[in-house]
Amino acid sequence: MAKRDYYEVLGVNRDASEDEIKKAYRRLAMKHHPDRNPDNPKAEERFKEAKEAYEILTDAQKRAAYDQYGHAGVDPSAAASAGAGAGFGSFADAFGDIFGDIFGTGRTRSNVYRGADLRYNLEIALEEAARGTETRIRIPAMEECSTCHGSGAKAGTSPSTCPTCSGHGQVRMQQGFFSIQQTCPRCHGTGKIISNPCSACGGSGRIRQHKTLSVKIPAGVDEGDRIRLSGEGEAGVNGGPPGDLYVVIHIKPHPVFQRDHNDLHCEMPVSFTTAALGGEIEIPTLDGYAKIKIPNETQTGKVFRLRGKGIKGVRSSTHGDLLCHVVVETPVNLTPRQRELLQELESINRKDSGRHNPRAKSWMDKVKEFFES
Ligand SMILES: [Zn+2]
Ligand SMILES: [Zn+2]
Repeated sequence: MAKRDYYEVLGVNRDASEDEIKKAYRRLAMKHHPDRNPDNPKAEERFKEAKEAYEILTDAQKRAAYDQYGHAGVDPSAAASAGAGAGFGSFADAFGDIFGDIFGTGRTRSNVYRGADLRYNLEIALEEAARGTETRIRIPAMEECSTCHGSGAKAGTSPSTCPTCSGHGQVRMQQGFFSIQQTCPRCHGTGKIISNPCSACGGSGRIRQHKTLSVKIPAGVDEGDRIRLSGEGEAGVNGGPPGDLYVVIHIKPHPVFQRDHNDLHCEMPVSFTTAALGGEIEIPTLDGYAKIKIPNETQTGKVFRLRGKGIKGVRSSTHGDLLCHVVVETPVNLTPRQRELLQELESINRKDSGRHNPRAKSWMDKVKEFFES
């Protein structure tokens, strides 16, 4: 399952203060604390998720890294180990002033929305992921209408104050003993009425456009990593802040290498004779060719590890390794002469098969034992 965005986990805005993050965390922790939900593994998961988000976002350095690179920029296991020693922490400690939160100031101004976050799937080559790259992407986005500058009103006119709520966006209604505040049904909370809507955007103040952005891909990114472009999502509604753009990295399959975290794997076909006699073969790495010495009597499945020839992850300080898996190739398209030589070789081998083909010999012995017992 994809990891949820930390801000989304805590339900706070990108620009939330440390205080807001703390409050949001306390609220979630109170709800999902394992002490309160003894037989609910889902609650524990939510609790851990909130705790991780809280730990990253209240550390200025980690938060900055997360804001720039998303989950690729921070190591949650490091964050978890920093504070996880004491288990879930004391319930009372975390919620000493919870009542202050519950009865404190609630949400104000309705109908002012942050723009939607956008997701862009970017496919890059393995080499680009390893070295980092910079690329330009073209994305559709809801932008502020340039004709009316977001007001939604036709040029030369301006929105008028809503008569129902006198521009407050909220109306009070008496219900029993209580006076309840509600979003104004006429202006839907904007406090304004547009009688002559802008023809370019139909009065919404936003318009669908394309924009081209430059994206910096840090070296070492892996499949599924996300890069956040703050404020490059859709424009906000009624003066709300814009959303963010998430560029999700997908790495194209490579003809030679398979990646496993920071290690690379490749198949290395070795000729039947080189495998038997030994020799040197050239293998590709991400930065040019390297030579590998094949010892004599090398078998299929043998793995040669080239240290440091893998990938350096975004968060790691060292390179991974390149692992070459030997596959001995049986010669094909044999000429009569090759056939003759191999037949001669085979007849010599057979004289002492236990010595020259011990694996085949011991396998045959096991098979015989199985049928005779
Ligand atoms: Zn407009
Ligand atoms: Zn109104």
